[in-house]
Amino acid sequence: MNDENKSIHEFDFELICEYYANLERQGPGSPEITLKALSFIDNLDDNSLIADLGCGSGGQTMVLAQHAPGQITGIDLFPVFIDLFNRNSRTLNLQDRVKGIVGSMDDLPFQSEELDLLWSEGAIYNIGFERGLNEWRKFLKPGGYVAVSEASWFTQERPAEIDQFWNTEYPEIDTIPNKVAQLQQAGYIPVASFILPENCWTEHFYTPQVQVQKDFLEKNVGNQAVSEFIANQRHEAQLYESYKKYYGYVFYVGKKI
Ligand code: SAH
Repeated sequence: MNDENKSIHEFDFELICEYYANLERQGPGSPEITLKALSFIDNLDDNSLIADLGCGSGGQTMVLAQHAPGQITGIDLFPVFIDLFNRNSRTLNLQDRVKGIVGSMDDLPFQSEELDLLWSEGAIYNIGFERGLNEWRKFLKPGGYVAVSEASWFTQERPAEIDQFWNTEYPEIDTIPNKVAQLQQAGYIPVASFILPENCWTEHFYTPQVQVQKDFLEKNVGNQAVSEFIANQRHEAQLYESYKKYYGYVFYVGKKI
């Protein structure tokens, strides 16, 4: 199939996958922060079953696997990421415990009350925080944990430019107390919530994109979809620099009652 026969939508997804496949992470985060969230989880042993939803190429999954016992299943909608994920798992000799499968977080292949831990970094927004927490809960054993990172407002008020940006991109962004209340409402004890430090956005997310953007533009000279996509990425990074006082990612850890 050549590009002309593809819908804009399909083409966009391919483009986005190709771009992110060149990066270790597909969202803000860091190994230190994955471990910090893990430090609140106290129910794992060699028989534990863990799922990482929207795992991407598995940056955080491999960190998790190196510090937590049990079997981990990574799930992502895009085969490109799952191929990279399984390659990473083999490279680190984790293939017996860490497997990636293609699937969707709104149609999970698990049994009810099967999982000890549900992990999801920078990905629950794809179905929405409240919906994800509510729908995923049934797959957790009582006493099992959910740990997700999610875009959140740090303040009650904020400048119009950033307010409008997020209300277009992800209207479910909300303040930390409101997110914690949603966690509780969905049937979890709110165990922890903490803000991801700035280096999760800069050093681990936006900075590695700078070179990838240059290479991507060079490889796709004259491709308007590519130049628009890169312009958007750069705009987003600039907004973060200007407005990082007002928003960021927050890790929420809950325990199923
Ligand atoms: N957790 C990774 C990736 C975050 S980016 C990290 O922190 O680096 C969000 C991921 O969600 C992408 O890999 C995207 O492909 C995936 N995704 C989007 N919609 C999805 C869905 N419905 N089900 C599963 N994964 C999905």
